[in-house]
Amino acid sequence: MISFINILIYSLFILSISRMSATRSAYKGNIFAIVGMGIALILGLINLKSEYQIYATMSILLGGVLGIIGSQKTSMSQLPQMVALLNGFGGLASGLIGISETITELQPNILQLFIIFTGCITFSGSVAGFFKLSGILKINDYETLRSTSTILLILNIIGVFYAYNGDIEYIIGFAILSSLLGFCFILPIGGADMPIIISILNGLSGWCTTLVGFSIQNSLLIIIGTLIGASGCILTYIMTKAMNRHLLKVIFSSINKHNEISYLHNKQDIHTGTAQDAAFLMENAHKVIIVPGFGMAASGAQYELANMAKLLIQKYKVDVKFGIHPVAGRMPGHMNVLLAEADIPSELIYSINEINSEFKTTDIAYIIGANDTTNPLAKTQKDSTIYQMPILEVEQAKRILFVKRSLAPGYAGLDNPLFYDEKTLMLLGDGKEITKEIVTNLENDSN
Ligand code: NDP
Repeated sequence: MISFINILIYSLFILSISRMSATRSAYKGNIFAIVGMGIALILGLINLKSEYQIYATMSILLGGVLGIIGSQKTSMSQLPQMVALLNGFGGLASGLIGISETITELQPNILQLFIIFTGCITFSGSVAGFFKLSGILKINDYETLRSTSTILLILNIIGVFYAYNGDIEYIIGFAILSSLLGFCFILPIGGADMPIIISILNGLSGWCTTLVGFSIQNSLLIIIGTLIGASGCILTYIMTKAMNRHLLKVIFSSINKHNEISYLHNKQDIHTGTAQDAAFLMENAHKVIIVPGFGMAASGAQYELANMAKLLIQKYKVDVKFGIHPVAGRMPGHMNVLLAEADIPSELIYSINEINSEFKTTDIAYIIGANDTTNPLAKTQKDSTIYQMPILEVEQAKRILFVKRSLAPGYAGLDNPLFYDEKTLMLLGDGKEITKEIVTNLENDSN
């Protein structure tokens, strides 16, 4: 019976992951995962000794309530930080299991120490990722952090020998050292490379679970951990490809030393326009490509964008497409999720490879809150963190409408030559507000 239930749980998780590959089926994928996890929790509770069941039930209830409150309080724009934190909790859970396992034995084995090491690194690295994504921590001294990481790594290696004796103080000390290492290691990693780091941490949280599964001989944890670990590895591969990066280079070098943004031109060299100008230009265009980025998510402009696209297509017979960069926003698939939420038909949504050849035949590129993913410096500025990252080739469009609130840089901290381009009209303001005004103009204008 138990093995039948186990197979049912594995199948539900595999079905869940397979449904996650498309936004339309992702909802069902989540339902499969919830049901699978629910059955797994009940099975886990039943298998526990009766004196522990009450503690486990209380922990599950507490975790469930905190999870529901957290998800209610997290806005769509804060989702990437939340995802980073959840990866971290996976690592923390594994690290704590590793510690508790060592306490129950006279002498810990290497596997348990390895679980503590990877679990703590995943936890503190994810916390560093959370701080970076929320913009809470601004790092100035990258070199010191790198040297500190090296010292901590050496201390960790020495710490293994002490922790191996099984004294709890040494094991706790080893866990603290590993946590510090994860934090100091992730913190200095350069701006634009964060998507790769987030997917590495995602995979690592899965592998920690697999190790715990081996340690406590639980096949469910081994299989689920491997599913998460393997998908994290695939995601890392996709991200490194998308960013045209070498994995080792991302991890061991590429520190963003440019804290002070150097502006390429005078801020006065830009041409600004209004929503009315933008509506006029777009309703008279044959083809418009909309390029959303983090600012679209931050302003929550997806519903207004859907209205704008619908009006342009139906009322003005404009050919409208959306061009999505794989690292746009702050988490993999960020834009796809938001556009799907606003019911924008998937036939209108194109990946970078599909859309790039179309910009040269495009009248208007409507960039809303995307910056690094359109920045031509990726082709020319060798010392920048986005150098050689493929970009959406918006500069080839006949006109560019650039929606953002100011000339502030994007995540990578770089100025964007497109702001000063002759064919660019800057629409300075909140992404949602500007798009809403454009929609009003499109509704009121006669075609
Ligand atoms: P960017 O971070 O380059 O730029 C976003 C722009 O949005 C900013 O310049 C900002 O300008 C503007 N903005 C912010 N709020 C608003 C608003 N309310 N209304 C209008 N505009 C707004 O975004 P991209 O999507 O182009 O690039 C993503 C970057 O994030 C890349 O560097 C990527 O490497 C990195 N990253 C991606 C992750 C992923 O998994 N996708 C994870 C971690 C990092 P202003 O303040 O002037 O409005």
